[in-house]
Amino acid sequence: MKKRYNYRVYPSPRQQRDLSRLFGCTRFIYNSVIADRQMIHETGLHEITDSRPTKKNPDCTVRSFDANRQSALITYERSRKSWLNQVSSVALIQSLRDAEQAFSNFFSSRSGKRKGPKVGFPRFKSRFSGKQSARFTSNGFRVDGDRVFIAKIGWLRFALSRELPSKPSSVTITCNPDSTYEVSFVVDVEPVNLAPAAERHAALDAGLDTFASVVYSDGTREKVGNPRFYRKQQSKLRKAQRALSRKQGPDRQTRQKPSNGWRKQQVKVARLHSEVGHARQDFARKLAHRFASENTTIAVESLNIRGLVRSGGHNAQGRGLRRSMHDVAWGAFFTALGHVAGDRLIAVNPAYTSQTCAVCGVAGGPKALSVRQWECQSCHAVLDRDWNAAMNIMLAAGQVERVKGLMQGLVTSNLACLQASLEG
Ligand SMILES: [Zn+2]
Repeated sequence: MKKRYNYRVYPSPRQQRDLSRLFGCTRFIYNSVIADRQMIHETGLHEITDSRPTKKNPDCTVRSFDANRQSALITYERSRKSWLNQVSSVALIQSLRDAEQAFSNFFSSRSGKRKGPKVGFPRFKSRFSGKQSARFTSNGFRVDGDRVFIAKIGWLRFALSRELPSKPSSVTITCNPDSTYEVSFVVDVEPVNLAPAAERHAALDAGLDTFASVVYSDGTREKVGNPRFYRKQQSKLRKAQRALSRKQGPDRQTRQKPSNGWRKQQVKVARLHSEVGHARQDFARKLAHRFASENTTIAVESLNIRGLVRSGGHNAQGRGLRRSMHDVAWGAFFTALGHVAGDRLIAVNPAYTSQTCAVCGVAGGPKALSVRQWECQSCHAVLDRDWNAAMNIMLAAGQVERVKGLMQGLVTSNLACLQASLEG
């Protein structure tokens, strides 16, 4: 199993200059591939590339990855632009592959081969926004304790917060928008089984007011509050953003360079954003770890984990869409849960979980989000919106072949418990 191990790294001022040159070069290669492909895409001029389309593969020049052509492109660019020779070619080749990957994702998403949210046409990278990064495969770096040697950069010391479990196969060095640096190693690790000794199953309904309402097969239940990290920082962010907009920023049309004040303020804004991001990640990962280690299976609505690994479900429809507009950490949480729980995470069909009465199973029509409690028209049970939805998810998970029978007895006891709590 491949995993990423990230560490903060502290380059010297000279190394920072070398790194920014490196990022400039990888960005240049990435952007030239995009410009090249954009022209092919817009003009349909396949013949401007050296590998011609064939009958069998009519648009191979646009879609396929051709390693020879790639390194030829780098050699060609290097002969024209001497500054590209000052950085490692390993990173340039990786940057080229990233650009190719972005195109292949775009094409396979457009043809429907790739599931999940639609991937847009690859965009140019800018030096003024987002992360700057470069990736090296094993011939471009080596690790020694808390130091990593990177080709044409030298030794970099990093904060070894935990030992690397095995020899890394690649490393990415990143400069974040808040001006901090990170190294991220890809390593092979043995998967750890977090499952508890005693069997217990959980069903989880993600909500707005409460982050998650959870019912357990042993009859217990729990509501996890919504931490709203973004909202807490909102006024600070707004102020910082306003100050940024008053300063002279970059302009592509007029080729205006940003002022020093703008650059400094941008780092401040980025720092506030990264604080929110870090707090959210921390919350999501700890919660996911707790759920995975306390429960045998965890059932959730399938829309929560659509496109889980890649995106965290940006394009989820209906409820998912409304949710993503709010300040919640679901994306981070479900992604983390998928990683730590693996196939113990059960996705159930989200249809009617909020409309059906969990006690008698009769559907009662759509409910506005503001309706927190409702009475079943058939059996007259008074139902809490969140508990009821979580119970329906558990009932649906009990039907899943993999856990069939496992949950049935447990569900009955929980239902009795639900009724008791509602009546009491
Ligand atoms: Zn009912």
